[in-house]
Amino acid sequence: MIRKKAKVGTDECVACGCCVKVCPRNAISIFRGLYASVDKNLCVGCGK
Ligand code: SF4
Repeated sequence: MIRKKAKVGTDECVACGCCVKVCPRNAISIFRGLYASVDKNLCVGCGK
């Protein structure tokens, strides 16, 4: 099975940081307090 890497809809994201807390790979950060950003090198596409 091929897993897709996470992608953030920057128009929808409110930078609440919920995804940052659940990502097991620490792949997500909040860019300049504006929206979530995913490090494609760390994301394994788990979908959490
Ligand atoms: S899909 Fe999984 S590894 Fe990728 S950003 Fe989301 S929680 Fe993290």
